[in-house]
Amino acid sequence: MKCCFCCLLCIFLSFPLFPLKKYSRTGFSMGTVLTVQFFTEKRNGNILLDELFALASSYERLFSSKQTYGAVYQLNQKGGGVVDSQILSLLKEADYYYRFTGGAFDYGLYHLIELWHIETAEEPPLAAEVERMRQKSGAKLVEFSDDGTLTLKNGVQIDLGAIAKGEILGLLGEYLKQNSVNHFMINGGGDIVLSGLFNGKRVWNIALKDPFSNEGTVGYMGITDRTIVTSGSYERFFMDKQGVRYHHILSPETGYPVENGVHSVTVISSDPSKSDALSTALFVMGVEKGIPFVNTLKDVQAIFIGKNSDGEVWIRCSSGISYGKDEFGSPVFHFSGEDKILE
Ligand code: AMP
Ligand code: MG
Repeated sequence: MKCCFCCLLCIFLSFPLFPLKKYSRTGFSMGTVLTVQFFTEKRNGNILLDELFALASSYERLFSSKQTYGAVYQLNQKGGGVVDSQILSLLKEADYYYRFTGGAFDYGLYHLIELWHIETAEEPPLAAEVERMRQKSGAKLVEFSDDGTLTLKNGVQIDLGAIAKGEILGLLGEYLKQNSVNHFMINGGGDIVLSGLFNGKRVWNIALKDPFSNEGTVGYMGITDRTIVTSGSYERFFMDKQGVRYHHILSPETGYPVENGVHSVTVISSDPSKSDALSTALFVMGVEKGIPFVNTLKDVQAIFIGKNSDGEVWIRCSSGISYGKDEFGSPVFHFSGEDKILE
């Protein structure tokens, strides 16, 4: 009888005292649309949402190299100096991914990014200008000292645009967890951090964008406790008068937008800044080099979508993901990350 009572008590305690309530907000942040959605027994969800959006703005002020109020912008202007500990920690992480990806992810490309000015440009820059800016670009010119100071050699400037959003989304997720909110989705312009369950009941269903259509998707995936980040040539680009397209992911080797047949790379891992840095790096590496690279990594999966020179669209997945149809015939990515061949 006593045992029965204990069992009943355990069952009772494992259910929330109050039903889960859904909180959701969409706003503009970090230069994109930020949507936060979570399920909690708490009744102070709207206050948490206020705090999250304020936090996102404060982190953006820290990591931005494009806005004059950005701490990284000011660091670039000064040519280095003593660095705030949070920026230093992200810079060190960026430097790790620079080395880890053989320079495909390069956080020292600010001059080239400024020169291309993809958001407003109508024509590509002159080849001589690209070469001039390439000479003073590259993370190899960034020097870290043991006392926390940074030297930007040869006028190199930093841009954390390919890692900062992932980092910020991860910090927002940590803030929710610190506040005992464990079922959430944070979506910053299609880069998504997932935790727990939708409505406390089922994994999240995430659709992958078709890079060749405005609204279309190529399939969905049931997944949780992971970060899914996509780097796509459709995200920011311009078309010149001849109809040639130029997008925002640059080859550190040439200084030009990467043209290797890849149009989007989606990376899944449990670390938001890692997913962000690697999606950009794998885009630069291309599918033939990128898939074997990912397949050596623990806790990372990737989906590449591209087009052959004859116009044929292809989709290729790393190990740990398969592409097929669900029971209703809809395209689906089966995620079995844990089955992956480990390092
Ligand atoms: P993402 O959308 O995460 O792939 O980041 C692209 C942004 O990162 C661009 O808009 C640039 O600000 C910057 N970027 C461009 N090319 C590179 C590169 N090869 N390595 C690192 N950052 C880059
Ligand atoms: Mg990125």
